[in-house]
Amino acid sequence: MSGAKLPKRPPRLGPINDSPPPPVTPPDNLDNKTTIHINDKDIDIDPEINIETLQELGRGAYGIVERVRHKPTGFEMAVKRISQNIVQEQRRLLMDMNVLVNSAGCPNIVEFYGAIFSEGDLWLFMEIMDSSLDKFYRKAYTRVDIPTNENAIPESILGKIGSCIVKALQYLHGIKIIHRDVKPSNILISRNGSVKLCDFGISGHLVNSIAQTFEAGCKPYMAPERINPDPQRRGYDIRSDVWSLGISMLELAIGKYPFPESKNLFEQLKRICQDDPPRLPPNRFSKDFESFIEQCLQRDYEMRPNYNKLILHPFITENETKDISEFVSKILDST
Ligand code: ATP
Ligand code: MG
Repeated sequence: MSGAKLPKRPPRLGPINDSPPPPVTPPDNLDNKTTIHINDKDIDIDPEINIETLQELGRGAYGIVERVRHKPTGFEMAVKRISQNIVQEQRRLLMDMNVLVNSAGCPNIVEFYGAIFSEGDLWLFMEIMDSSLDKFYRKAYTRVDIPTNENAIPESILGKIGSCIVKALQYLHGIKIIHRDVKPSNILISRNGSVKLCDFGISGHLVNSIAQTFEAGCKPYMAPERINPDPQRRGYDIRSDVWSLGISMLELAIGKYPFPESKNLFEQLKRICQDDPPRLPPNRFSKDFESFIEQCLQRDYEMRPNYNKLILHPFITENETKDISEFVSKILDST
């Protein structure tokens, strides 16, 4: 019987969840209320009396994110809530918080306001953004007012988005953090044109530039060396995030996840490890963008550029000063 040639051995899936957790600050100092400092004003947060929930923004693998309003001032925030009883979830939220506290200086990382413990849940208050990129690009690609949905997000807009993500990841690298879950739903965008990275729940600390733990991230965006680690190496470095960045940028450019649909997760991971890495469709984008994607999506991570090199790539330098606010508003306000 003829058919597709089977690989000799399936890729080894692991080790992924078998390492000790990264260090996080214990929640000893978490109260059931807090005071946050915004625009030179102090805002007292007490969910029992002055916070109202307006809308659910999303639910992920852990926790729920909601839009809330501080009733006395009308100030709106996003709050991520997770159950205090589930240790794994708690650890993620604390890691998220740790990274956010240490990233206050980066304009491309979502701003952290404060955290509390209330009604059996941990609450993490952060700056509210208008959308995440997964919802944003789906909206852009289903607009009814454009004749074709090819290149629904112009390349210069993608370049600006890419520059913001590279800057956020470069900042994290500067404080020895690897994100490990770079994907469109973890990148937020606002009508004012800002683009920010969020969701640091499974980020890891780098030791000698290498992440030691193989904790799960979102597998379809994972680099081949994380899915099928080299037994000779103890960990992986920041260039695993560079792969996830490449997959995310490609997804935004073509309007869908770039690997072909697979029957199941195992097939999908096999493709990531064995197929030629995906590329932009020919003749639709500039040579600069094609080269950016090609560099990020090298199967051998040693061949991928680091952030100091990526930040100087013409796809980034040509677009980093572009104001994308008008385009973002147009998409988010379209029906
Ligand atoms: P995963 O659990 O794999 O990370 P996810 O990213 O979709 O999946 P969450 O991180 O819990 O799940 O976030 C859920 C959604 O909430 C996000 O996709 C985003 O749309 C929205 N969201 C998160 N933080 C904010 C924020 N600060 N402002 C606005 N929306 C946000
Ligand atoms: Mg997320």
